[in-house]
Amino acid sequence: MATEQVNKPGIAEMPEGLTGPGFFATSLEKAVGLARKNSLWPLPFATSCCGIEFMATMGSTYDLARFGSERLSFSPRQSDLLMVMGTIAKKMGPVLKQVYIQMAEPKWVIAVGACASSGGIFDTYSVLQGIDRIIPVDVYVPGCPPRPEQIISGILKIQELVEHEPLRRRLLPEYDALLKSYQIE
Ligand code: SF4
Repeated sequence: MATEQVNKPGIAEMPEGLTGPGFFATSLEKAVGLARKNSLWPLPFATSCCGIEFMATMGSTYDLARFGSERLSFSPRQSDLLMVMGTIAKKMGPVLKQVYIQMAEPKWVIAVGACASSGGIFDTYSVLQGIDRIIPVDVYVPGCPPRPEQIISGILKIQELVEHEPLRRRLLPEYDALLKSYQIE
């Protein structure tokens, strides 16, 4: 993604709906999708070098605040986007899973970088070969390390998912089955 593109400020697009003089009407689902999409609160679970790239993403040059995500949360209960950045040792796995479980629904997960996505260059006995072995992942950001533009691209992908997610998705048996496949009740 070109830097000029990333740096271009914009306003949230209006969802589909009916417009007329002095009114605009849309569905509740679209209004909720718009609000959620533009107010994601990330929990940065940064364990190594990819975390530094995330710090740059928060800085003035890339400025994640433009996408409504400047409010980082270090409490799982006050965040809805888990961003895992860095090598996750197997010993750290249960801690990461606990953080995920403590987050309230609806919640989304990005695996940032090769280590979080697949273990990266650390194909060893002690490193988790991808966080999707213990928690469900929505978006993977490739790279070692990924540049801030790539991290922003991952956030934009998550925003797409959030905007179009049906309100009842988390109540569906398929979602229940997904969590059960990770031994999450
Ligand atoms: S993917 Fe590369 S840059 Fe990111 S944590 Fe792993 S080794 Fe570091």
